[in-house]
Amino acid sequence: MDHFPIFLATTGRRIVLSGGGDAALAKLRLLMKSTARLTVFAPTPAAEIVTWAATGKLTLIRRAFDHGDTICAALFYAANEDAAEDKRTAAIARAEGALVNIVDNLEDSAFITPAIVDRDPVTIAIGTEGAAPVLARAIKADLEERLPASLGTLARIGKAFRAASYALPLGRARRDFWRDYYFNTGPKAMNESEEQVQPALDALLETHLNKTARAGHVAFVGGGPGDPELLTLKARRALDEADVVIYDRLISSEILELARREAVMIDVGKEGFGPSTSQETINDLLVEHASTGAQVVRLKSGDATVFGRLDEEIDAVDAHQIGWHIVPGITSASAAVASIGQSLTRRGRNASVRFLTGHDMKGFADHDWAQLARKNEVAAIYMGKKSARFVQGRLLMHGADRATPVTVIENASRADQRILETTLDHMADDISSAALSGPALTFYGLAPRAAATAATDIKLEEMA
Ligand code: SAH
Repeated sequence: MDHFPIFLATTGRRIVLSGGGDAALAKLRLLMKSTARLTVFAPTPAAEIVTWAATGKLTLIRRAFDHGDTICAALFYAANEDAAEDKRTAAIARAEGALVNIVDNLEDSAFITPAIVDRDPVTIAIGTEGAAPVLARAIKADLEERLPASLGTLARIGKAFRAASYALPLGRARRDFWRDYYFNTGPKAMNESEEQVQPALDALLETHLNKTARAGHVAFVGGGPGDPELLTLKARRALDEADVVIYDRLISSEILELARREAVMIDVGKEGFGPSTSQETINDLLVEHASTGAQVVRLKSGDATVFGRLDEEIDAVDAHQIGWHIVPGITSASAAVASIGQSLTRRGRNASVRFLTGHDMKGFADHDWAQLARKNEVAAIYMGKKSARFVQGRLLMHGADRATPVTVIENASRADQRILETTLDHMADDISSAALSGPALTFYGLAPRAAATAATDIKLEEMA
């Protein structure tokens, strides 16, 4: 950066310009936006300059610029459209202590005038150090289009309200208030009329003051199996209102995008047996954020109450007297069974269904295998990929029918969902050769209902 951008205070200061033609006109149009006192030296000024002088926008002196004319001037523009005259006048101004700009002569200029997008008091200056004026103009045009004309008005009203906003504590609370004003409440009020902005701002401050007084809270939210349309309305609302979202690895990016734009997003992804954020760290994060008054969403895949280590987190939050509630979600067994067109329970077949995990913290999990090995039992096995051989062995050992159907649904409800049909005696081999990379739910005792799965079914022959 050879030129460092700054904004110059102009009120009550002099800016002097030498020249009366097109180059002078272009610069003056910009300079007249400022509150500086403008003086123009031109023996033969363009008609516009004469008019501006007549209406008090600048002082016009109808002669060539000379010694003593830039005394106490902050800036001097040489806009004579004549190299020799530019050089002469610039030398005088420089000697008298003004910062000098020679129009279209970057090398001999002490500063550049940027392209300006004017939403006073919001001013955007664009400069390319002379490299690409075309680019600067394109950027300006783009911004002109994008920034509402009302932005300046909003900023002016906002500026006058700054002292009132000090009622909010410095930091997040105050930032949230202003963000809400500029990007939501302010533009909405402005759409009705400028008079609506001030009352809207008063009401907004009241709302934010109440919010600050609100205690921190943790919502344990079930994020469902992945498809954002399987989120509950309550889950969506919680995400809309969250200050902080602490989420697991299995939460899909489409769902994360629904969180409030300003929310702090914290990934505490746990990878099967791999590296993970420790449970203690997660507990600490919940407490730390809720203690500052934040509305925290602890977003877990499926239903938070199913294999979610929810109780440890509730205990941690409880220990600090922080309020919490649970928002139920669609557990992956529900999404998976829907994808194969089956029921979890069925009259005459099974009156109970078990949700079990293939492994727990201590390793492979033990269950009442003898009970499960009986005819017509149904179980939804979570985290069952690595433990498939163990589960298969236990069930066969307890006399389960080798032909019992087993269905594995990988990425249930997501675009990359796959369904693997097998039987108890082949399940371990089939699961390992399918090389499933996504989360997978195994149904013991359920086969897909034919028509429901035609599209995504992986037939074993195809995979071989
Ligand atoms: N609370 C979650 C389960 C967390 S344990 C729930 O209610 O679904 C993680 C296990 O959930 C994974 O190992 C896998 O067995 C299952 N799972 C999560 N999302 C899944 C999905 N989209 N498809 C299939 N299984 C899924």
